[in-house]
Amino acid sequence: MNLDANLFSVDETLELRRKEVVGLYKKYVHHGRASSQALLNLDTNFVKAEDCIVWDEDGREYLDFVGGYGSLNLGHNHPAVLGALRKVEDAPVMMQSALSKFAAVLAHNLAQITPGALQNCWFCSTGTEAVEGALKLARLYTGKKNIIYCQGGFHGKTLGSLSVTGKKNYQQPFEPLVPGCISIPFGDHEVLEKVLQEHEAAAFIVEPILGEGGIILPPDGYLKEVRRLCSRYETLFILDEIQTGLGRTGTLFACEHDEIVPDVMVLSKSLGGGVVPIGAYITTAPIMKNAYGSSIEKITMLTSTFGGNTRSTAAAIAAVETIVREKLPQQAAEKGSYFLNKLQGLQEKYDIIKEVRGRGLLIGLELAQEGGLLDYLSAGSLKKLSSEYLSSMVGAELQAKYGIITLFTTNNPNVLRLEPPLTVTYEQLDQAVDAFDKLFSRYKSFLKIAFRSSRSAISSFFRK
Ligand code: PLP
Repeated sequence: MNLDANLFSVDETLELRRKEVVGLYKKYVHHGRASSQALLNLDTNFVKAEDCIVWDEDGREYLDFVGGYGSLNLGHNHPAVLGALRKVEDAPVMMQSALSKFAAVLAHNLAQITPGALQNCWFCSTGTEAVEGALKLARLYTGKKNIIYCQGGFHGKTLGSLSVTGKKNYQQPFEPLVPGCISIPFGDHEVLEKVLQEHEAAAFIVEPILGEGGIILPPDGYLKEVRRLCSRYETLFILDEIQTGLGRTGTLFACEHDEIVPDVMVLSKSLGGGVVPIGAYITTAPIMKNAYGSSIEKITMLTSTFGGNTRSTAAAIAAVETIVREKLPQQAAEKGSYFLNKLQGLQEKYDIIKEVRGRGLLIGLELAQEGGLLDYLSAGSLKKLSSEYLSSMVGAELQAKYGIITLFTTNNPNVLRLEPPLTVTYEQLDQAVDAFDKLFSRYKSFLKIAFRSSRSAISSFFRK
């Protein structure tokens, strides 16, 4: 043991400047990530956050339109969530030898707000872990092995969740994955029926709107058909509301839009109020009882050390209460249609915007790939380059010049995600629209943005 080790304290960490953070990150976390983020100017040292606003080390203000990938429905550091954490600061964070009243109450409250007979919860710490739990529940309950999932869908990156995440280049390097996972196109209930006829399936897992896949809405009536087919073929319908849940799409849960109730709903992200990590699934009492019964052996299959701990569940109780009390789903619906309208107005103005789509405050802005003569002359490389980097470059420029933070969707890098906190103001939405307008009026094509972006990258080397 090195008792003379040179360790940073929390106070010293708070004082670190951007360049020092990049240096430490490069050396001790991941060199490539630090370098590429620095190159795109995405290495700002944020030091303070409140609601939709974050501040960098020089006191510059930015608007956060990434919203923690849907974890910040309540914005940064919501006082109700921080207040709940203060109220439980003297309570034991976990006592595995006892029952947590906070976990019991959170499960009760979730049963009140989720549709239909969803009632029994299992708690863990992240989205991917909650998905793992739901997949295991389905196999245990049905006694079947196969899991059907969608191309372009995203459910996490641990081995089980990755096996049902529809992006080949995330999956291939880690093969063999969990056996029995079958991918089908999103939004096609006829293919789903065919696969259900041919394979006995424990579950079909799907998002109500593909989030990381590029904010893609299914055709009308799709989820209703999924519900009907899953019941008919005795396959559990697992709905992943990790990103769409808790108000994001204009209803408390996206499935309310389609008036359906899944057998299992998976939650995480904003359940932690933007402050603590927590994941959960909620299912019906008969499914939970039949799967995990009451034998000690089965019950111990359900443990997770941090799952249901006092702080995460207390924060979640406050988050859910605030989302409901402040009518955030309704706010998301109203602000979302205002924002979507304005962005679609820009689409008419600029060819570089291919499409703007979404529901509530889950909006994707898809950029047009560079085609035409230049692409022909570059034997298609320009199109490939623009599909991979255009949205990062637009995002970087929006952040550096206009103080608007956006990022691309992970399964579909050509789409910029716009999912600000549901507490965002109309003025802040206007600010974002104005920034896009100014940016696209100056840089109308991939080449111009690429040129601008490389100039910023070069100047980033000379920043202190
Ligand atoms: N499911 C969906 C729909 C998601 O959007 C995500 C994360 O983006 C996950 C699952 C995985 O959650 P986590 O990153 O907490 O593991």
